[in-house]
Amino acid sequence: MEGILIKSIGGFFFVADQKGEVYRCRIRGKIQEKIYPGDHVEFDKENKMLEGYHARNNLLQRPKVANIDQVVIMHSVKNPDFAPALLDRFLLLVESSGFEPLIVINKIDKADPGFKENFVEYQKAGYNLIFISVKEAKNLTKLFEQLKNKINVLTGPSGAGKSSFLNQVLEDTNLRTAAISKKLKKGVHTTRMVELLALPSNGWVADTPGFSSIKKLNLEIEADNLSWYFPEIAKYNNSCKFNGCSHLHEPGCLVQQKVKAGEIAERRYQSYQQIYNELKEKESRY
Ligand code: GDP
Ligand code: ZN
Repeated sequence: MEGILIKSIGGFFFVADQKGEVYRCRIRGKIQEKIYPGDHVEFDKENKMLEGYHARNNLLQRPKVANIDQVVIMHSVKNPDFAPALLDRFLLLVESSGFEPLIVINKIDKADPGFKENFVEYQKAGYNLIFISVKEAKNLTKLFEQLKNKINVLTGPSGAGKSSFLNQVLEDTNLRTAAISKKLKKGVHTTRMVELLALPSNGWVADTPGFSSIKKLNLEIEADNLSWYFPEIAKYNNSCKFNGCSHLHEPGCLVQQKVKAGEIAERRYQSYQQIYNELKEKESRY
C-alpha cells in the first residue's frame, strides 16, 4: 500500500498512510538510492516493511525534502520591519527553483492601521497572500486551509516567526511533547534529519525552515531570464517590440508603458531593475 515517508531515524522509516496513521517500518532488501521525507513509498502494513518508492517530482537539497508542493515565504510586518525588496528576492529564489510560493505575513497584531496597502502590489502581481498572527492565533485556520493536502516547506528571514509557527503546528496536532517543541525552538532540530509534521488540516510541513539562508539569495539567475520570475512582467515578455526586451530602456516596451499606467507597481519594477543590474554586473566579472 502507498504512503508518505515522514522521517527516518536509526534504520526505522516512519510512513504515514492515507489516513495519516503512522507506521514504523524497516526496509526490505536494498533500496539503492536514498529516500527522503516526502517520498511516496510502497509499504506492507502487516509486516511493517518499506518495499520501494515512486519517482519524485522534485527534491529540495537543504533540508532534503521530496515532492514539495508549496514553499511558504513568511515575513513579518514588524520586528523585523517588512522589507519588500527582501520579499522580492525570496520570491525569486522560490520561482527560479520551480516551486510554488505562498506569501504569509505574520505579526499583524503589531501592524499599523492600513498596513495592507503595502501588499497590494503583490496581489496585483498575482500572488496569494495571507495575513496572520501566530501569537494571537489569527487566520491560522485560513492558512492551514491553504496548506491542505500539500507538502509545504517554510522559508523567510530570521525573526519572522517561522519556529513559532512550527511550534504552534506541533501543539495543534499534538504530535509531540512540550519538551521536544521547546528543543525545536532552540534550533536543536537543525542537526538531525528533517521531519514532516502533520498539519491540523490534512497536509504536511517540514519541521525546519529550509531554503532560507541569505547566502542562497545570492541568486544563480541570468539577468536575461530575470523577467520570467516577475509574473506581472513575464506576462508581457513576448509582446514588446524587441525580442528579448530587457524592459529597461528599449523603445516600444510594453512593460515600461504598464508601469507608467500603474498596472505594474513602480516599486516592483524598481526591484526588477536593481536586481537586473546586479546580475549583469556579476556576469561582467566573469
Ligand atoms: P524565526 O526566526 O522566523 O523562526 O522567528 P521566531 O519564531 O523565533 O520568532 C521571532 C520572535 O517573534 C519571537 O520572539 C516570537 O515570540 C515573535 N513572534 C512570533 N510570532 C509572532 C506574532 O504573531 N506576533 C508577535 N507580536 N510576535 C511574534
Ligand atoms: Zn519590454
